[in-house]
Formats: sequence, C-alpha cells, structure tokens
Amino acid sequence: MPRDGADNIVATTSRRRTPNLRGMSTCNERYSRRTFVAGAGALALAAYGVSDARATPRPHWSGYPFTLGVASGDPRPDGVVLWTRLTAEPLSLDPVSDRRVPVRWEVARDENFRRTVQRGRAWATPELGHSVHVEPDRLQPDREYFFRFESGGEVSPVGRTRTAPHGRVGDHRFAFVSCQDWQDGLWTAFRHLAEEDVAVVLHLGDAIYENAPNATAVRQHEGAGEPVTLDEYRRRHAQYRTDPDGQLVHARHPFVSTFDDHEVDNDWRSTFPQDPALQGPAAWEARRIAAFQAFYEHMPLRRESIARGASIRLYRRFTMGDLVEFNVLDTRQYGSRSEPCGYGTGPICPEVLDPARTMLGEEQERWLYRRLDRSRSRWNVIAQQVPVMQIDVGAGPPVDLKLDKWDAYPAARKRLFDEWQRRHVANPVVLTGDLHDNWVGDVKADFADPASATIGTEFIGTSISSDGDGVPVSEEGAIALAENAHIRFHNSQRGYVTCHVTEDRWRTDFRLVPFVTRPGAPVTTLASFEVKDGTPGAEQVA
Ligand code: FE
Ligand code: CA
Repeated sequence: MPRDGADNIVATTSRRRTPNLRGMSTCNERYSRRTFVAGAGALALAAYGVSDARATPRPHWSGYPFTLGVASGDPRPDGVVLWTRLTAEPLSLDPVSDRRVPVRWEVARDENFRRTVQRGRAWATPELGHSVHVEPDRLQPDREYFFRFESGGEVSPVGRTRTAPHGRVGDHRFAFVSCQDWQDGLWTAFRHLAEEDVAVVLHLGDAIYENAPNATAVRQHEGAGEPVTLDEYRRRHAQYRTDPDGQLVHARHPFVSTFDDHEVDNDWRSTFPQDPALQGPAAWEARRIAAFQAFYEHMPLRRESIARGASIRLYRRFTMGDLVEFNVLDTRQYGSRSEPCGYGTGPICPEVLDPARTMLGEEQERWLYRRLDRSRSRWNVIAQQVPVMQIDVGAGPPVDLKLDKWDAYPAARKRLFDEWQRRHVANPVVLTGDLHDNWVGDVKADFADPASATIGTEFIGTSISSDGDGVPVSEEGAIALAENAHIRFHNSQRGYVTCHVTEDRWRTDFRLVPFVTRPGAPVTTLASFEVKDGTPGAEQVA
C-alpha cells in the first residue's frame, strides 16, 4: 500500500493549533503494559477487586491486537464514546477468539497519562467482533482528553478527543466528510483533516464501499465479491480501518458517524435492495442485519445504536451549547423505494409524485419536527446523506433528476420545508454527502418557482477519495450550474469541508486535495462561503 509521506506538506488554516501529537500517529508504536499500569496505578487494580493476573488472562493473540487503531465519537458535554476493536489479523475471516477478552481503558487530561481522570474495564466479546465501546460520563464540557486501551499486555495507540461544549457558546468549529472508497484513492484528505482545529467531524456516510475487488483500481478491496455475511462485512470494515491516514484522523478528532448506501448496498432504501432479482426479501433482510451489526462494531457509537436485527438507531441529535444543533438523519432505513421509475436519472414519473412517499419514515419525521420545534439554538443543522435541493442535470427542458435523492420525494421535502417555515426554525443549514462533489445552493420554498423565498442553505461536501482525482467542474456540474439558478457553486475534486460558526455568521471552507491517486497531495482552500444570521443563502467570500 502506498504510504502518504505527507508529513512535510501539511498546511492548516487553524487559528489555534492543536497540540502536536505527531508521536501518537505511529499506530504501530507499542507501549509496555508496565507503562500503562504505572499510569493507571494500583487504584485501578483495586477497583477491579481482583489480582492483576486474574484481571487480564492473557489472550492468545497471534500479534499486536490493536491493528485497527482507536476512535472516539458522539460527544456530549459529559462524555464521549471511546472505540477500538481487537484483532491481530484484520483480513482473516477466522474469528479472533471465541472467548471474551478483558480490556482496560483510561482517560487523561494529558497525552502522557499523568493526570488520569477516569478508567475502567470492559469486555471485548466475540458476539460483537471483539469491538470495544466505552462511554466515560463524568468528563468536563468542551475539554480535550486523551485515551488508550490495554489488553493482554499490549497497549493501544493514544487517542485524543473532545467533549461537546455546553451553555453559552460563542464559537464552534467542525468538519464534515463522506465517501472514502478504498479502491478509488488514498485518504490524504484525512491526514490534513487530522491537523485542523475542529471540535468534531461529522461523517455523512460511505465509510466503506461494498464493491467487489477491482484489479485495475488504485488499491484493491479484500475478498472475492461484495460482502453479504457478517464476517464478510467485518473484514471489509477492518480493511478500511487499517488505513494509516484514517487511523490518524480518528485518533485526533471525535466523529459523529451515520451511514449512507454503500455500508450495505448501492442505492438501497429500507426493504428495497439495489437489485431485487439477486436478493429476495429474506436474503436482503439477512444482509441488512449483517451490515448493520458490522457498522456498529466498527464505529464509535453509543449503546442506543447497537443493531437490533434489521434495525439500527442512527438518527440522533447533538447540541453545541446554545449555538448549534446537529440533527443527524437516516435517509436509508425508513424511506419509500428509491428510483421508483427505474434506475438512474430522468424526468419525474407519476410514482414520484405520490404524496404517501416518505424519505425519513413517519417516526423519524415526527422526531425531527419535535426537535426543531424545541430547539433554542441559533443554527439548526440537518446533517444527512442525499441532496435536499433540486438538481436538474439535464440540459434544457424537461427537468432531469437523480431519483435516489430528495428530488424523488417532493411531498416529503415539502413537509420538511413547511415545518421550517411554520415553526420559524432559526437558520436552517443542510449538510450533505453522497454526490462526490462540492456544491452550495439556496434552499427554495418551491424549486419550480425561482422567485420563491430562499428558506435555508445547503452545503454538499465532496468525497475523501471516491471517484479518484476528479476535475474542477464535471460535465454534469456544468449543466447543473446552467440549469439551476439556486446553485451557487460546484466543484468535483476531493477533500473535506470545515465550518466555523459564530453568533453572527456561518463560514464554510471547502478544503481541497488536488489528487488522491498518488501520495503527498497538499491541501488548499478552494472557496469560502458565509451565511449571515437571519439571512438564508450563502455568499462566496473567498
Ligand atoms: Fe459515495
Ligand atoms: Ca433541464
């Protein structure tokens, strides 16, 4: 696998630099158990109420078990989820062990673990693929913490994380990302994102791709075909977790992760797979059960997101004091059939206009409207998967739409927009992944009427690697810019998006890596946009 070597060219626009944690980026670095215990002290052992030897029966790892690195996620003011998964052989289909394995964890204020604030023990069980999810809950708001795990005498790399702020918040920085197809390119963007001064990273989906291995790709998927079983999804996720740039970014920032389609099957929605001829209802349900469980096992998610059969709770809310509220949506699990008039792009067919069509499902829709109604935040973010704004991608009349997106759910979209207006939702901002392009658009009350009110702003972030190097303006992008008066910006290269939110304005910077098919790309700011408090729609400022 090509190694990035981007250490020398990391650029950052950060105002405050995060501490230099270069040392923790070397994920193969080993720490002796002695060091871990010295940091944890005798107190830890006393707390377990057992002798050291019995507390940690040595598991028979064939090698270093923390090959997938560490991660943290779902920050709240009092805590954050700490994640790892133990496997010495990530690409093996054999279970690592049929026994549960004790793991110790600790959280400190400093990266040398001199000021440990919380520690405990967890079990890594075979039922959950020896993944570990711990939820320390006595932390202070808006603070940086460091964490690590120990098992069988081996110590994990050190992770850095941050709790959510609370109360009056004047300033919040975060990033959003999506779409990291292993085969299409390197994750140099993650290497740069690791250096950014952000409190949290939202991952809007396509953290893995289910595609079969492609011999001519930049690098190859493991396996022989698309994953279908739990072990196959585990192995695909594990392969993705071995990437050093991915491990680096997850060791630096907490993530809020949701899935899109490729964590399961291209363009799936609820009970509808991409290709029903290849998978009947029972096979499709079994596949979702496997994919959902593997997703939980590999993401820093809270207990309420443990997969239960063909169901996983991924829609949830994060509050950054009184400044920003993130409503993370799930546009895959509960919606009506994607592409009701056949696969791909085309003019609207009568089925699309069926008022019974739903994108979020009734329960999630009710939850969202209740949340928006109760919000006292200045900025109300909807962080989700597929574009909410209309994107006509056909030159001239008629309107040609992608029928996996909100464009194929006009009645559901109108309900959402009506709720924004009726409940006077403050500053709605939609953040979207999916398209592998950067886009900025005005959200219109009625896309058929360009003179209708602008009622919100949508930022669509490009992919980390999916679709390879890309081009500044795609053919489709050029058509869309000409056909859609509400679209203000398009770019089809790779990168991530950072946002800096204050009381008076929202700033979005599109961060660009010019290539991903070879290592060493620098990062630059491609364009910057601002939204003013109380005035929906973004203006380009740089
Ligand atoms: Fe994607
Ligand atoms: Ca058109």
